[in-house]
Amino acid sequence: MMVVMKSGHSRDEFDGVMRRLEEVGLSGHPIEGAERTVIGVVGIVYPELSDELETMPGVDSTVRISSPYKLCSREFKPADTIVDVKGVKVGAGTVAVIAGPCAVESEEQVMTTARAVKERGASMLRGGAFKPRTSPYSFRGLEEEGLKLLAQARAETGLPVCTEVMSEATVDVVARYADVMQIGTRNAQNFFLLEEVAKVGKPVLLKRGMSASVMDWLLAAEYILAKGNRNVILCERGIRTFETATRNTMDINAIPLVKELSHLPVIADPSHGTGKWHLVEPVCLGMVAAGADGLILEVHPNPDHALSDGAQSLTFDSFERVMQRTATVAHAVGKRMEREAVGATA
Ligand code: PEP
Ligand code: MN
Repeated sequence: MMVVMKSGHSRDEFDGVMRRLEEVGLSGHPIEGAERTVIGVVGIVYPELSDELETMPGVDSTVRISSPYKLCSREFKPADTIVDVKGVKVGAGTVAVIAGPCAVESEEQVMTTARAVKERGASMLRGGAFKPRTSPYSFRGLEEEGLKLLAQARAETGLPVCTEVMSEATVDVVARYADVMQIGTRNAQNFFLLEEVAKVGKPVLLKRGMSASVMDWLLAAEYILAKGNRNVILCERGIRTFETATRNTMDINAIPLVKELSHLPVIADPSHGTGKWHLVEPVCLGMVAAGADGLILEVHPNPDHALSDGAQSLTFDSFERVMQRTATVAHAVGKRMEREAVGATA
């Protein structure tokens, strides 16, 4: 339910509504619109509540939100959410590119990659320090050592850092270094983890679960918003289908659909979506044409020797080409690349 306040309501009237919601065990999530203040009500709403609230001073009306997800719905907030990561704006009508290795492997690897992606127009650096691997015998990341290397790359390049958090036990250590807390596909419905990560208060990049419907995905995002963190970037990274010719099936439909259903920014991950570096470029173009607010891409100085996801990693040269062609498509659909928009030269 949403409580729409009268224009010109007083602070006391607003506080009165928030207090009443708390008394009946509900939480109120205000948003200040250009004309009106509305309060999203989260919790189990009983039938008489709307009548009760509508008699309170300062309240104009109440409106039911029909979708099961509330705070991330367009019904609750019609205007696009712009997630600001240390000045990098995601969802502001631009294409923000997050690029870097799948896993942080060494100082040399992460520093050369950070410099290369910055030079070619990336807005943020990615890199996994805690890696979810299908086999326990694969390289599972440098852990805190890897986080320190990401912080070193940020200090030199100025690029904010996006890195995955895999467990509740490591939320604090990841939060000490990350600018964006990434939730991977395997944890996309780990609801306790989502809530713990939300509480950190930093922007969260929420990948779509590999077998999550759009509804499942938006309800996962709702867990984060319901804990008071509205800075969520959704990421389509491909889903499991019967098709085995590619690693996953990139769901292009999800981009415009989720943008209709939700105000949150949506980016695309063609690296994990395809699993093949030579498919990354055309899929990037398609995703941006379909309305993606950004891309997250794996880039490695020497993909043949990568400790994870080499087959889908771009070289510096292929990343450069992807950036140039993506910019062409972005311009064709009336957008700019995020770095261009802030006046940086790629
Ligand atoms: C990653 O970004 O490196 C990753 C593991 O992604 P996903 O969770 O989408 O598989
Ligand atoms: Mn990867």
